[in-house]
Amino acid sequence: MPPTVLLLATTTGYQTQAFAEAARRLGATVVFGTDRCHRLDDPWHDGALPLRFHHPADAAKEIVEFAQRRPVDAVVAVGDAPVLTAALACAMLNLPHHSAPGAAASRDKHHARQILQDAGLRTPCFIRFPLQEQAPDPPASLPFPCVLKPVSLSGSRGVIRADNPAEFRTAFRRIAALIAGPDVQTRKDENTPYILAEGFIEGREFALEGLMDRGRLLPLALFDKPDPLDGPFFEETIYVTPSRLDPDSQQAITDTVARACTALGLEHGPIHAEVRCNRNGVWVLEMAGRPIGGLCARALRFEGGIGLEELIVRHALGLPFDSRREARASGVMMIPIPEEGLLQEVQGLHEAESVPGVEDIIITAKTGEKLVPWPEGASYLGFIFARAHTPAEAENSLRQAHAKLKFVTAPSLPVL
Ligand code: ADP
Ligand code: CA
Repeated sequence: MPPTVLLLATTTGYQTQAFAEAARRLGATVVFGTDRCHRLDDPWHDGALPLRFHHPADAAKEIVEFAQRRPVDAVVAVGDAPVLTAALACAMLNLPHHSAPGAAASRDKHHARQILQDAGLRTPCFIRFPLQEQAPDPPASLPFPCVLKPVSLSGSRGVIRADNPAEFRTAFRRIAALIAGPDVQTRKDENTPYILAEGFIEGREFALEGLMDRGRLLPLALFDKPDPLDGPFFEETIYVTPSRLDPDSQQAITDTVARACTALGLEHGPIHAEVRCNRNGVWVLEMAGRPIGGLCARALRFEGGIGLEELIVRHALGLPFDSRREARASGVMMIPIPEEGLLQEVQGLHEAESVPGVEDIIITAKTGEKLVPWPEGASYLGFIFARAHTPAEAENSLRQAHAKLKFVTAPSLPVL
């Protein structure tokens, strides 16, 4: 019998396809579990298991019932939404996975901060506020500058720096409006109505992609984020690997992330960590029990030319794999949205693609689409991928290509 991989996903996007293709290449049968197959334009083929990821306990029970009819050998979650469902189901099915408390904590920034602080990791001062229309006065214990963020959104959405009490109140109201907005309300879970404020951590930022293997961290790639991320908003731009950081500091990041995973209960499966480093050491910003999102994973390629998704499926099925990254330097740029407007035209694509080192440019925004910049925004204009001999060359290719792109927009009409 070929093994069965249950793939939990909310969208049929690129990463879901990449996981499904990887599983099929390994001879596995893929079953989708999704909270979207009630849609009329069902792109999920027959046989997708309908699940409600925002009711994870119920969804996990459905998976267990399904597995009684048809044995499941591995559960793989794509994106943030199904992570807790996957952890709960695996616990009941006796499959190795992140623990359910770990999966839950990684989706609640306040809870994660508490656990990391209790475990003795470097933690900024943090305070949680219930959502309210009237912005509260910042307590005297909160240092400035600080950063405000919704506890359960992701992708730097709604993350705002405030340098003084007036900016704190403005940021608070802005996040409250974002959380109350329609697109966030539809994905609501119990964590939504809180705003977390925490001390601003100065320093350079890095992202570590890894696999937890029965409680041990296997680092896959450390990315530098070479653009300064000082706010007031924190849209991602460039990721480059291998890191140019000195080996001792790299080891310090790995050690800190391993401690954070253990403290949270992220035990088995992919992890994506974001940290800042300064003279005091390594500070965890975010710990997620899932791989780097969407198209960005394409920046990673491993021994034998295999991608991150295949590595994760192999790991979930207990198949052998080689986790050494390719020798070349690699980078991705998430193309930032410069201003609000309706996208009319993308110019300079051909010139940008001709920049040496650039491997691919994927524009994901559609003509006519309304572009929403951060902190309210949630999607980039697209992605530039580069590979080169050194990380500096890869970074340079990304910057040159970006400079050749021009995004023509028209003002969007005010909503009446
Ligand atoms: P999300 O999970 O939505 O991505 P994060 O907590 O990772 O939110 O924050 C997004 C970005 O905001 C971080 O990558 C970092 O650049 C910045 N940021 C968040 N918290 C802090 C902080 N305490 N100090 C400095 N920068 C921060
Ligand atoms: Ca983040």
